[in-house]
Amino acid sequence: MFDLMSNLFEFQPRNLDIDVTKLNLIAGEWTAGESEIENLNPSDLSDLIGMFAQAGPGQLDATLDRARLAQVEWAAYGLERKQAVLMNIGNELMARAEELGTLLSREEGKPFAEGKGEVYRAGQFFTYYAAECLRQIGENADSVRDGIEIDVRREPVGVVAVISPWNFPTATASWKIAPALCYGNAVVWKPANLTPASAVALAEIIEKQDIPKGLFSLVMGSGRSVGQQLVENPKVDAITFTGSVQVGKGIATAAIRNLTKVQMEMGSKNALAVMDDADLDLAVSLALGGAFGGTGQKCTASSRLVVHQAVHDVFVEKLVAGAEAMIVGHALEKGTQMGPVVSGQQLDENLAYVKLGTSEGAELACGGARLDMPHDGFYMSPGVFVNTTNEMRINREEMFAPLTSVIKVDSYEAALETVNDTNFGLTSGIVTRSLARANHFRRNARTGVVTVNLPTAGTDYHVPFGGRGDSSYGPREQGKAAAEFYTTVKTTYISAGSPH
Ligand code: NDP
Repeated sequence: MFDLMSNLFEFQPRNLDIDVTKLNLIAGEWTAGESEIENLNPSDLSDLIGMFAQAGPGQLDATLDRARLAQVEWAAYGLERKQAVLMNIGNELMARAEELGTLLSREEGKPFAEGKGEVYRAGQFFTYYAAECLRQIGENADSVRDGIEIDVRREPVGVVAVISPWNFPTATASWKIAPALCYGNAVVWKPANLTPASAVALAEIIEKQDIPKGLFSLVMGSGRSVGQQLVENPKVDAITFTGSVQVGKGIATAAIRNLTKVQMEMGSKNALAVMDDADLDLAVSLALGGAFGGTGQKCTASSRLVVHQAVHDVFVEKLVAGAEAMIVGHALEKGTQMGPVVSGQQLDENLAYVKLGTSEGAELACGGARLDMPHDGFYMSPGVFVNTTNEMRINREEMFAPLTSVIKVDSYEAALETVNDTNFGLTSGIVTRSLARANHFRRNARTGVVTVNLPTAGTDYHVPFGGRGDSSYGPREQGKAAAEFYTTVKTTYISAGSPH
């Protein structure tokens, strides 16, 4: 066996002292909560990352009231002043990507390269929206009535509640917080309780900028208590959420009672179609990365592999060999290709899906088992189901696990029909050498994102991101499309009168 400790990165986090509970940022002040939680490393449960405050209900009103005042002040800042704030945040994230990526990998479990890449990408969201601060240009039109002009402009929506998940703790939060600030809003952020250390690190970077006191709040606490109270609070003008469909539906119900604007990215069941003319080595590498990157805990994961029967057997053989060769290990161990699952609960759910799949008649070609490792953590082997049908629950429900299913089809038409036969609609991909098929697929796949000869996971920051069906609700995120959610439109009619 390898000597784990000698291979570990130097991951002593400079920004955490485990003897000091990390606090919430309430109304501009670092504030203790009503209780606190432990944050453990899923790669090594003996590694306590720190203690984190849990906000109480009384703290929400205080922070929302302060955010309301700060938002007005922030909206009146000059464009270049706002731009500088966002640019500073982005630059610091990129400069500290190694340090903060280490912390992220330590608490979430993704391999260090993915953690570092995520923090760097988070920085790019801020620098992109820094530039967008200067590109907020409205429209001007003549009225149908003589002598009247019309000005159409976007204004901030107000106080935005950001509720983010653990699987991309820094990037997802950043693609929400950066546009919220860019368009002149205040932010109250409730991060996932599984990844509070990354949240505190980002909050510390934002808080020290030239922003009005209370413009940005961090309210760590459980979703069911402080999260629920936040989304029910009428002082919130807009809610942006990424997480499960079940919680998303509850948030939408709470939001509608107050007529609060809402935007949600939820589950998915993304399919990668592998055609008979595909470059099979490419297809296998796309499937492996798409299915097992981030331990399969991605809303863009390739969880259904829809494979043409002409290449099915060779594809499966190569896929299984690739999955079996993957190195599962401590997130900070050099050479690790797949880290642990994020939590014990998620691991139990994953193993329950393995049982369910085999009880439904699917064959587990490899993996899907709990692994004993030198460190006590939530490890499991990457699993591939074969002989599955699209009707099985393992092909209809989001598993969020290092598990993928192969579905055999006899034609391109059957592949497209299978790809589209789902309640979700976030991403889909095709591997083919045929331009005609690629083009037909691009136009007929019912997903918000389509990829051709590329993984179903991995998107850019300057273009829209979102899906259809149960995957998304409300306006798209990222790129210029984000303005739709983070602003409200004002139409002004101006009669200038006679110059004489
Ligand atoms: P959740 O949907 O429960 O959590 C997402 C975020 O919502 C977290 O910040 C959570 O807080 C918060 N939250 C939970 N309940 C409420 C509530 N009632 N009101 C307001 N906020 C709430 O996802 P889980 O972390 O429990 O993961 C469960 C499943 O969800 C996964 O297996 C996966 O299928 C899916 N998921 C999908 C994601 C995606 O990117 N599409 C991301 C994460 C999960 P807290 O964690 O502190 O309780």
